[in-house]
Amino acid sequence: MTFAARHIGPDPDEQDQMLKLIGYGSMEQLMDAAIPEVIRWHGRLDLPEAASEEETIAELRAIAARNTVATSMIGLGYYGTFTPAVIRRNVLENPAWYTAYTPYQPEISQGRLEALLNFQTMVTDLTGLTTANASMLDEGTAAAEAMTLARRASKSKSSVYVVDADTLPQTLSVLRTRAEPLGIEVRLVDLDAGQALPEEFFGLHLQYPGASGAVRDHSALVAAAHAGGALVTVAADLLALTLLRAPGEIGADIAAGTTQRFGVPLAFGGPHAGYLAVRSGLERSLPGRLVGVSKDADGAPAYRLALQTREQHIRREKATSNICTAQVLLAVMASMYAVYHGPEGLRAIARRTHERAAAIAAGLDAAGVRVAHAEFFDTVTAVVPGRADAVVAAAAAAGVDLWRVDADRVSVACDETTTEAHVAAVLSAFGVAPVASVVSAIPASLRRESDFLTHPVFRTHHSETGMLRYLRRLSDRDYALDRGMIPLGSCTMKLNATTEMEPVTWPEFADIHPFAPASQTAGYEALVAQLEAWLAELTGYDAVSVQPNAGSQGELAGLLAIRGYHRARGQAHRDVCLIPSSAHGTNAASAVMAGMRVAVVACDADGNVDAADLDRKIEAHRDDLAAIMVTYPSTHGVYETGIADLCAKVHDAGGQVYVDGANLNALVGFAKPGRFGADVSHLNLHKTFCIPHGGGGPGVGPVAVRAHLAEFLPGDPLSASGEHAVSAAAHGSAGILPISWAYLRMMGPEGLAAATSVAVLSANYVAARLREHYPVLYAGNDGLVAHECILDLRPLTKATGISVDDVAKRLIDYGFHAPTMSFPVAGTLMVEPTESEDLAELDRFCAAMIAIRSEIDAVAAGRWPRDDNPLVNAPHTASSVAADEWSHAYPRSVAAYPDGVDRTAKYWSPVRRIDGAYGDRNLVCACPPPEAFED
Ligand SMILES: *Cc1c(COP(=O)(O)O)cnc(C)c1O
Repeated sequence: MTFAARHIGPDPDEQDQMLKLIGYGSMEQLMDAAIPEVIRWHGRLDLPEAASEEETIAELRAIAARNTVATSMIGLGYYGTFTPAVIRRNVLENPAWYTAYTPYQPEISQGRLEALLNFQTMVTDLTGLTTANASMLDEGTAAAEAMTLARRASKSKSSVYVVDADTLPQTLSVLRTRAEPLGIEVRLVDLDAGQALPEEFFGLHLQYPGASGAVRDHSALVAAAHAGGALVTVAADLLALTLLRAPGEIGADIAAGTTQRFGVPLAFGGPHAGYLAVRSGLERSLPGRLVGVSKDADGAPAYRLALQTREQHIRREKATSNICTAQVLLAVMASMYAVYHGPEGLRAIARRTHERAAAIAAGLDAAGVRVAHAEFFDTVTAVVPGRADAVVAAAAAAGVDLWRVDADRVSVACDETTTEAHVAAVLSAFGVAPVASVVSAIPASLRRESDFLTHPVFRTHHSETGMLRYLRRLSDRDYALDRGMIPLGSCTMKLNATTEMEPVTWPEFADIHPFAPASQTAGYEALVAQLEAWLAELTGYDAVSVQPNAGSQGELAGLLAIRGYHRARGQAHRDVCLIPSSAHGTNAASAVMAGMRVAVVACDADGNVDAADLDRKIEAHRDDLAAIMVTYPSTHGVYETGIADLCAKVHDAGGQVYVDGANLNALVGFAKPGRFGADVSHLNLHKTFCIPHGGGGPGVGPVAVRAHLAEFLPGDPLSASGEHAVSAAAHGSAGILPISWAYLRMMGPEGLAAATSVAVLSANYVAARLREHYPVLYAGNDGLVAHECILDLRPLTKATGISVDDVAKRLIDYGFHAPTMSFPVAGTLMVEPTESEDLAELDRFCAAMIAIRSEIDAVAAGRWPRDDNPLVNAPHTASSVAADEWSHAYPRSVAAYPDGVDRTAKYWSPVRRIDGAYGDRNLVCACPPPEAFED
């Protein structure tokens, strides 16, 4: 069997049955009818023929072999770490964790929500602040979010953001990218050299310890900044904080950074979970997802995303951030690393790391090599006038990578993997010998006195048996693709094949530092170049960058490219971005972050962009039009025929066309945005190209452009052109690119086109089967939808009071994850089956939806009261149906085992319906004490 036949759920016989039901004789007929000819591309993709799973693994082995795994002592925000094997196998390599979706349906996400709450608790404890969110994309973007948060919260009118010169270079690069369009002036100040703070500024960014390794007492600077009304961000290393005074204890308002060294592989720069924490009073300005504690219908404590409405809509044009997909899987790993080691274990790792660094400093010092800073945690900067290259080369010859700061300085970073042998090798590269006596270089005034990770969860699961069972207990609470279909419209929850996943943890991919010398990364460079070329072929664009580490970041990169283009042509005044009212929330948010003004274009009754309103808006903004941002197929799941016209009109007015490519699963092999008129798109590799959602991240959001925009693509954050970097690492989340590479390699041109056809077939099959039970909103040619369909619940809600929420929660009783709720249309469900679900699973879903319709009818007919029926009481837990008292209007069997549910394979929701409003009023975002869970 080919891989494509494994990836695509329905087999040819099933496809024929499905075609028959929707009234088409063949797949060609269906696709010819569904896809408007104006966008249709009839060629054959210029990609290699499909390879088998075994051949693909062999090819990836060969690519991986071109990378060299060295002992990396480069540091600069990326450190060697031992991923505990129990976490690697049972989280990173476990589909129960990696195939889950973002926890918007909290009842079926209690496991990952608990893990994320542990993450938030870990970050708040270590930073000494009060509230942390559930992960950021990396340290650079977390620092950028901290900068804009400071701007919003500061009373100062100044637009100056002061950045300490001892900041990580990649962070500085991302800060500059994000500051410029917002009119923020990043001012680099060498605080160490005694340069003074400016008169006025709204925020101050400090690195702790500094990029050079120096540990400094920042309290006086913090006080000075506060005196002028500025907020202070401390970018802190969490391992160092086990020994050093916490940012909150020196008065910082915000802490930002990465959790990579808590057991997450280097992976050439990502994916890793960034973190962001704030002091009390700033929690409601915190961007990103925040897990909070609330209660369920029985009053039991339950977790859910707090302030969720705010997050889901990303506040549109009032947006303060565009972050959507974050780094959940990696945050889970980092939190479990803390759970497994506990506070004592972390302190021991930190002490050992520090001792190695101190041993290097002592050896250098004894031999008369000057050490730049007397006080440090893990990184020593040595001053070797004119000899830096020679030292780095000598270390490299011994298999150790050091960092060349400049011709006269070399820095050496230690981590938990550093051994005495590494210390000896490093010293030998400097031409000196180890010494016996080593003293601590942690300044007494900055020693941490306060305790941390005092919650029992960090003091319980320290044996491997305990850890294994804790992980299993949490993952058992969650519904992921390993249990059944997740028909989330716009999210493309398709198969994440095991063969695609396997290379991710190979050392040749996992253990490469993002700043490793080019001679060690030829495999990665080849993989990235090939993947970018394939994506360009698939989309019809001329150049692609995989640097953006989520769709939102791809959007920002694409809009910045448009901005750069207009500026380069002397048209800097073009700053209006047209966005249809149905757009995904990130679109408008990204436009705001790119310094654009948003003008909303209405949609017509068919869900298409309203042509008359488009004309009006173009006319109104003819002189300052920068771009239009449209999703194709539309967010309504329809192939709009007006797209080519739309592109032409916007171009005529001097604007650029951005096509949001998150829905590319409906186009691959059949249409190319770069050919039907668009100038730039982002793709979501975590949707169309099989990177698993990881419970809400990681993702990759490549940006693809036509030739005229190529020079404005994101640059290497370490190079001189780093002004354009949108992520901290040149290739963003490089470590998960082998997944998409493997998918394309195994599918080949025919397989990819077949996947698109079956995705469209399945959506139309579901629409056809459910149409008589729920109206299907919007359709294109011939009454066909694209790869998803919208079921309208509003008439039923009006008649019975049963809401989309009730249907979504009742689906849990039937063993399903709900479709996308109330996006893009309030009161509806959007279903995207993808090509990977076989006919039996599609039918099981349709049967559940039809059974739910008859339950709604029973409410309408008055057989069940409106306030006591299986819909409004859903989901039902085992303990609620096993209760000694049962006073409901329907029997227990209907609650627990409704029509068609297999009694031997029942998924039980661990909690009943969660009260979100209660949690928002009583915001609790750290682990509650164990007593909270007592009956
Ligand atoms: C998923 C999605 C996005 C955002 O992607 P993230 O990776 O979550 O940032 C943007 N637009 C559309 C249409 C999407 O479906």
